[in-house]
Amino acid sequence: MLISVDALKPDYVFGQEKLGVRLPVITKYFIENGRTAREGMKSVFPTFTYPCHQSMITGTNPAVHGIVNNGIFDPTGEHLGAWYWFANRKVKTLWEAAKECGYCSASVAFPTSVGAKGDFIAPEFWWDGSRLDSILIDAVAKPQGMILEMENEIGVYAGGLDLSDAGDAQRGKAAMWILKNKLASVVKEKPFFLSAYFASFDESAHQNGVYSDAAKSSLQKIDRMLGELIEEAECITEGHLVVCVVSDHGSLDNTYNISPNVLLKKAGLIETPDLSRRHSMDIVKSFQK
Ligand SMILES: [Zn+2]
Repeated sequence: MLISVDALKPDYVFGQEKLGVRLPVITKYFIENGRTAREGMKSVFPTFTYPCHQSMITGTNPAVHGIVNNGIFDPTGEHLGAWYWFANRKVKTLWEAAKECGYCSASVAFPTSVGAKGDFIAPEFWWDGSRLDSILIDAVAKPQGMILEMENEIGVYAGGLDLSDAGDAQRGKAAMWILKNKLASVVKEKPFFLSAYFASFDESAHQNGVYSDAAKSSLQKIDRMLGELIEEAECITEGHLVVCVVSDHGSLDNTYNISPNVLLKKAGLIETPDLSRRHSMDIVKSFQK
């Protein structure tokens, strides 16, 4: 089981007392009874969520797998804000390698997993954050129909725009649902590989500060869900379980933004179009001209 906690950095894991955060599950399974990378890990470049996750799942750098940013480079707006939601087609992913080696391969909300060659893939994807997301995610899930099947029991599967604690709670429920409903029966015949992802700590840190109470609270909730998933996975595998908790990058509080173009415009050195009253699609069209 491979679980990614977005933006989890070493000082949060090893400086819990100093920061006033309690992570009993990570402490028990990894610090006291497992192995840890105490000094942290060297991330890939660029250290964005999507390149990092595709690197974790392929073992290659962004220059090799080709997912070089979160969003697709699109200065003229042709792709309407699309992200690199998709697993790359250049190098093999762990989902595919596991399946080829006789594992049942599954994933919940792992970034860059649309189109992943696995057995039970609930990918991270979104359109507009509305109910349409469930239908579209269901259409690109493996197998098709699994998201709507799971939603009958757990409620709405969180699309990639819902990075809240509540969204992560749904991701946790989805991972638990796959463990209980898809992997528990399979594990008698073959091992499974399950990847999962939690986003709320990173989002809380972005919105409220890296060391804010909100960020600490989000991380403590993730720690609890991690414990529930480990317990369930230990139960269905009768203890034959390897768990890796990984992260993509750290984060620092941003105190100042410097926008040199504002000064250049005030000095009359550049001109910018007045975009204030125009619809976003008109903006896209005007850039395309
Ligand atoms: Zn991230």
